[in-house]
Amino acid sequence: MQKWNLIIDVGECTNCNVCTLATQDEYVGNEWPGIAAEMPKHGHRWIDIKRKERGQPPLVDVAYMPVMCQHCDDAPCIKAAENGAVTKRGDGIVIIDPEKAQGQRQIMEACPYGAVFWNEEKDIPQAWPFDAHLLDAGWAEPRAATACPTGAFRAIKVEDAEMQRIRADEGLQELDPGAATKPRVLYKNLHRFTKCFVAASIAATVDDKEECIQGAAVVLLKGGTEIGRTETDAFGDFRIDRLDPGSGGHVLKIEKEGFAAKTVEFELGDSITLGTITLTASSA
Ligand code: SF4
Ligand code: SF4
Repeated sequence: MQKWNLIIDVGECTNCNVCTLATQDEYVGNEWPGIAAEMPKHGHRWIDIKRKERGQPPLVDVAYMPVMCQHCDDAPCIKAAENGAVTKRGDGIVIIDPEKAQGQRQIMEACPYGAVFWNEEKDIPQAWPFDAHLLDAGWAEPRAATACPTGAFRAIKVEDAEMQRIRADEGLQELDPGAATKPRVLYKNLHRFTKCFVAASIAATVDDKEECIQGAAVVLLKGGTEIGRTETDAFGDFRIDRLDPGSGGHVLKIEKEGFAAKTVEFELGDSITLGTITLTASSA
C-alpha cells in the first residue's frame, strides 16, 4: 500500500516561511472535522523553521530546517493517548482527534520532537496533520508542499519499499535517530545541523602584495589518516564539512606548487574558521 512521506531538503530551505504561513492560512479560522480544530492565531507554529549558524566570520554557514509532526510509524503520542485520541491512518498520516484529545496534555508531552502545540482556549493538543483533509479531497500533495518555492518541501506517496530505496539513494536521514519513532519525515543535507566543518583562507605575499591562493590542495588528517580533501576557490577559501563535533585533534596539510607546504594543527570542538593561513614562496 502506498503511504505518504515527506522529504525536507535543508540545503534548499531559504527561511521564506511560506510553508508556515500557508499552514496558518489553512487552519487559522478554519475547522476540519476529524482532522484539526482551528489553529490559534498566535503562538502556534505547526511547521516551525529552525535556524543553525556554523563557523565564524567571514566563513559562516547558515541553514534553515522546517520541523513539523514527523508522522511516526512508532509514535509515542499514540501510546500516550487515551480513548484512541491519536491514530495512524492507512496512508501513514497521524491524526490527533480534536474532540477525543480534549484535556490530554500527555499527548503533547510525549512527542520527542516538540511538534505538538497546546491550544489553551480549546484545551487540546494540535500538530500539523499533513493537510490530510486536502489529500482526501484529491490534492496531489499537501498545501505546504505546493507553497514551497524552492522544492525544499517534497511530499511523496509510495510503497515503503520504494521509500527505503529513495532514502538510500538520496542519503536521507531522520531528524533524531535516538528518538527511534520511525518518522515518515526524512531530511536531506541534515549535516548542516548535525555536523561541523573546518574552513580557512589561504594567502601568500606575491610581489609585495597579499594574494588569495586559488587551487591549493588541502588535506585533512585525523590520527595520521586522511579524512577529507579539497582545493581552495578563487578567493583562496576552502571548507571541509561533515566532520564529527568534539572529535579532537586534527591536522591540515596545505600544498601549492611554488610554495612551501604548510601544516596546521587544531582541535575540533564545533565548526571552526581558522582565519588566513599564509604560505611562503618555496624559493624564499
Ligand atoms: S512527531 Fe510527535 S506528534 Fe507527530 S507522530 Fe511523532 S510523536 Fe506523534
Ligand atoms: S516554503 Fe520551502 S523554502 Fe520556504 S521556509 Fe518552507 S521549506 Fe523553507
